[in-house]
Amino acid sequence: MEESRVLLKFSGLKVGKHQFQYKIEQSFFDLFEFDQDFSSPKLEVLVELEKKENFMVASIGLSGEVLLDCDVCLESLSHKLNEDLNLIIRFAEEFDDSEEEILLLPFNAYQVDLSQYIYELTLLNLPLKRVHSSCKDKWEDLPQIQPIEQQKDSKDPRWEKLNDLYK
Ligand SMILES: [Zn+2]
Repeated sequence: MEESRVLLKFSGLKVGKHQFQYKIEQSFFDLFEFDQDFSSPKLEVLVELEKKENFMVASIGLSGEVLLDCDVCLESLSHKLNEDLNLIIRFAEEFDDSEEEILLLPFNAYQVDLSQYIYELTLLNLPLKRVHSSCKDKWEDLPQIQPIEQQKDSKDPRWEKLNDLYK
């Protein structure tokens, strides 16, 4: 599965700008355990890595398309992605990716795994509403609001159980 990951080997690169290109298909998303609600990903990642003396800047561009299910007709719907992310890569005693746009790699690292970033960049940019433009009119006619209103009043059995515990 290693070859499905987005690995960027930076050791040996000269100070300056370098470009890397990756193809992202289903095998990439198979690396992650999640409830996948899209199919046939055909994505491309372009990374421009600027290597400086003590740190690096990765400008990551993700583009391509995935298929979603239309909420109205349930047929597939192509969704285009065109997203950017800038990541500053520094070196430290320990790996730390808790900061959103700063990645700390151990001093002895020779490559960086960008897979998690690409995965998140894809998922964060999928729309909540998935409707063909030709299905939009039908969407407006669907009774969207009522079920939510009802939920507020109706009792959730899980909460009732909890309430019982505190009686
Ligand atoms: Zn549709």
